[in-house]
Amino acid sequence: DDRLVTSEVMESDGEQYSLRPRTLEEYIGQDKVKQNISVFIEAALKRNEALDHVLLFGPPGLGKTTLANIIANELHVNMRVTSGPAIMRQGDLAAILSTLSEGEVLFIDEIHRLPKAVEEILYSAMEDYQLDIVIGKGPGAQNVRLPLPKFTLIGATTRLGSLAAPLRDRFGVQCRLEFYQPEQLRIIVNKSAEKLDVGMTPEGALEIARRSRGTPRVANRLLKRVRDFAQVLGQAVIDQKLADEALSRLEVDRYGLDQNDRRILQTIVRTFGGGPVGVDTIAAAVSEEAGTIEDVVEPYLMQLGLLQRTPRGRVATRETYRYLGIPYPEDASG
Ligand code: ADP
Repeated sequence: DDRLVTSEVMESDGEQYSLRPRTLEEYIGQDKVKQNISVFIEAALKRNEALDHVLLFGPPGLGKTTLANIIANELHVNMRVTSGPAIMRQGDLAAILSTLSEGEVLFIDEIHRLPKAVEEILYSAMEDYQLDIVIGKGPGAQNVRLPLPKFTLIGATTRLGSLAAPLRDRFGVQCRLEFYQPEQLRIIVNKSAEKLDVGMTPEGALEIARRSRGTPRVANRLLKRVRDFAQVLGQAVIDQKLADEALSRLEVDRYGLDQNDRRILQTIVRTFGGGPVGVDTIAAAVSEEAGTIEDVVEPYLMQLGLLQRTPRGRVATRETYRYLGIPYPEDASG
């Protein structure tokens, strides 16, 4: 299945690596975050200290991993990369932490998925730079305390709400990444086209940008698919017309929504009368994972005003009906 939006790393992400900006200056958008981080980096460098721990949160593909790499790069230190689900036992984390050098960055992606027991030893590691672990079992078990080098933890999560408060509070720097504006994505598409050696008009780049759900990863992915069309059609330069044609064939509409989005909206409206309906129920109806719907699909639909999250469940809006071309049901009492 050729899904354009996914929370998984796809095979083409190998190439994305080369599309990644390496410095804060090359990192487009997220101006507030960039300004703050550059101050903290400069201060840490001047004091010759490790940067405080940084938490980056926001929907997938907005540049959390990229920014983490840039921070390490600007600090002139190494970055070790792991993820919440990859660290299963306390020993796994202990093994990583004990091999860090002074000032190095440890990046934990999907940090909300760390097992509870692992999370607990992370507290003192972050706060006091020491590791409190229990070695052995039963009456012979021993508490061991190991000093750690002063390191910087950068955590990334798509779900701030799933992070335990004690963990969240130990991050001195917390940054929310926002969806990008079309103009910012246009610059990203242009730069990527240059790196991929694809001809591109400004209008062509803007067309791809507009239809990328405010997300650089999607923009880069769409660029590659449009490039395929250009190649097959023997067109050297991607202009607005070609971009529009290719994206329409990929069934990405002018809002950047694909079949998957439309199927979910239609299910809420047609099957569940516009809601409120729980995300698990929607997930079962469309055979999709609830987590994917919550992390990948919903944030952008909410941004467009096509979906509301309420305590009782998901609700379609007047805009949703208009978007789907279905008459809005008149309020029975009105
Ligand atoms: P996340 O970790 O939030 O899921 P990534 O850091 O992996 O997102 O970003 C996805 C891709 O989007 C990267 O490969 C990079 O090429 C591109 N990208 C993300 N943010 C930016 C940015 N601010 N400027 C330019 N390219 C970006």
